[in-house]
Amino acid sequence: MKPKKQKRVGAFVCRCGINIGSVVDTREVAAALGQRPDVAVAQEYVYMCSDPGQELIRQAVEKEGLDAVVVGCCTPNLHLKTFRKAAGTRGVNPFQVEVANIREQCAWVHQEDKAAATRKAIRIIGSLVDKAHGNRALTPAKVGIRKRALVIGAGIAGIQAALDIADAGYPVLLADRLPNIGGRMAQLSETFPTLDCSQCILTPRTVECGQHPNIELLTYAEVEAVSGFIGNFTVRIRKKATYVDWDKCVGCGICTQKCPSKVSSQFDRGLVDRRAISIPFPQAIPNRATLDAAHCRQLGRGKACGVCAKVCPAGAIDYAMQDRVIEEEVGAIVVATGYDLFAKAQVGEYGYGQIRDVVDGLEFERILSASGPFAGQVRRPSDGKEPQTVVFIKCVGSRDPEHGYPYCSKICCMYTAKQAMLYKHRVHHGRAYIFYIDVRTPGKDYEEFYQRTQAEGVTYVRGRVSRLYQEGERIVVQGVDTLVGRKVEVTADLVVLATAVTPSQGAKDLARKLNLATNEHGFFSEAHPKMRPVESITSGFFLAGTCVGPRDIPETVAHASGAASKVLALFSREALETDPVIATVDQEICSGCGLCVAACAYGARQLDPKRHKATVIVSLCQGCGACAMVCPNSATQHENFRTDQIMAMVDDLVLA
Ligand SMILES: Cc1cc2nc3c(=O)[nH]c(=O)nc-3n(C[C@H](O)[C@H](O)[C@H](O)COP(=O)(O)OP(=O)(O)OC[C@H]3O[C@@H](n4cnc5c(N)ncnc54)[C@H](O)[C@@H]3O)c2cc1C
Ligand code: SF4
Ligand code: SF4
Repeated sequence: MKPKKQKRVGAFVCRCGINIGSVVDTREVAAALGQRPDVAVAQEYVYMCSDPGQELIRQAVEKEGLDAVVVGCCTPNLHLKTFRKAAGTRGVNPFQVEVANIREQCAWVHQEDKAAATRKAIRIIGSLVDKAHGNRALTPAKVGIRKRALVIGAGIAGIQAALDIADAGYPVLLADRLPNIGGRMAQLSETFPTLDCSQCILTPRTVECGQHPNIELLTYAEVEAVSGFIGNFTVRIRKKATYVDWDKCVGCGICTQKCPSKVSSQFDRGLVDRRAISIPFPQAIPNRATLDAAHCRQLGRGKACGVCAKVCPAGAIDYAMQDRVIEEEVGAIVVATGYDLFAKAQVGEYGYGQIRDVVDGLEFERILSASGPFAGQVRRPSDGKEPQTVVFIKCVGSRDPEHGYPYCSKICCMYTAKQAMLYKHRVHHGRAYIFYIDVRTPGKDYEEFYQRTQAEGVTYVRGRVSRLYQEGERIVVQGVDTLVGRKVEVTADLVVLATAVTPSQGAKDLARKLNLATNEHGFFSEAHPKMRPVESITSGFFLAGTCVGPRDIPETVAHASGAASKVLALFSREALETDPVIATVDQEICSGCGLCVAACAYGARQLDPKRHKATVIVSLCQGCGACAMVCPNSATQHENFRTDQIMAMVDDLVLA
């Protein structure tokens, strides 16, 4: 038999300026690699990723007739693509190109011992040379893209993303777990720094969504499961029963007035009651009634009532309605599930939510709102009187590791300034105090807005509030003014807490269903916080708005448009190339034990029921290698990570 021609592998070592070069002796590394009989050529250069660096690789491939290339440089996340392209222009198969990380995993962590770092760099690159010798040339398969998007969460982030995608001509499903779209912005009064009415700037968008030929609204709906992969997802969605036939309902609201069952209004943050059948606010889209079964006399309490069915002129009430589970096919998913506020009941020093006139920021937005419970007049919840003194307390929970929220909630400085200013606009003689640790106003026209708040007579007190308590009808607020080093005490009629912005309730659960990562606080994690801020780690999932972290409306809108542009970039392609670095099964050896089927988190393994052999669903396999780990017979192998390759790499690292 003709002896197998040995692969010609070239090794290239990058200095990365001083990043690698000041710790690792790259010349020594290249010289050591050049001594290896299985390395055809070894070279070092100051910036391998630069044009001259890539040209050096291209020329070496040509001159030395290389079949494979190994570059010792930074993480493959940054430049594997660059080097695959460079070598690819001279005919090297992209899967014959490897990157050995000698920056993050060597130079940066061994700055104190340069000689050891140099030895380690030789071994790391050497191990990848071994792998390269075992690599097979692979060809990606092509799969079609379903050019339809699902947006989960219909606050301003989801609305913006949906409109951008729909305006570009692609169909969008816009889902929200509430009966209407709009999210938190629908609850706000006026918005900083321009003080335009939140509903006035939101409603044109919600109306457009409701009427857009490319947008289908799926409200009162939650995602239950997602399967598939980028370009080809199948999503199972539960459409909760509204007990009102929305095709018949005309949104007249008669039922919402006649229903005898009252329940605290979630939209108005518990400041007033709504009825068991309700439309949350006048501009709601869709403007349809929803019956809350848990509080309905007929459905929840088993009493004969039926008032809404009797009064409904459209005959829309349907007490027999059931939840429906539907399946939808989409190519991209945008997550825009927004935020919640840290519950004031968790802060002991501020009365554990027991003092009626201690409210949070969103409650105060409803108090200020023209469509709120007091029609825009500032009133206290306990007795409806106009508060003469209002104390605002910032950083409640935020920047406070004790309560588990060490981060800055970012929007509170500005919305507190806005709320204090709006209070002064409505109660001219009223006194407003803001207790703060710092004032942070990094945004266009934000600093000027803060200055204006002070000019309009709002008093800023630098210091933390240590305690507040009820005294008669009023609330005593005690703290320390840290600028003058004196105790302060203010007796207020109303206290407003700027509580920490937290991930929306259920975000972790949703992340688990979608296979997405969250950070330690539960916000969705970006693929890279600086370079890929609107993508998730999992291909085909994009992130928009405050589900990633606290942000104001302008930033949310920009972020959402960024996410939409990534979806559009995906949809502009005719087909996707699947990564061929996936699992394979040797059918001769497979015993059909099924361990790999259980180990695969992506549902990419199945047992052929007739042959009792495992197979790989190529389109679902993510190449994680979990199946190869559990296979007792080594029947499952991972393309270009075969056992023989890994053992050769280990030998190089441990024994060399
Ligand atoms: C008191 C206060 C005042 C503010 N004032 C201003 C201001 O004046 N100016 C300004 O620029 N910013 C202001 N903001 C910030 C502003 O509210 C946010 O920037 C903006 O609302 C974020 O929009 P979003 O779409 O990311 O999130 P959200 O508005 O929270 O929308 C998220 C949506 O997702 C839905 N959802 C959640 N989970 C699921 C799920 N599992 N399935 C389906 N749907 C789901 C929710 O029902 C909601 O509709 C203020 C914030 C607060 C707290
Ligand atoms: S009375 Fe009937 S039509 Fe009117 S809002 Fe209620 S359900 Fe809709
Ligand atoms: S674990 Fe291995 S032997 Fe068992 S079914 Fe999967 S591939 Fe076959």
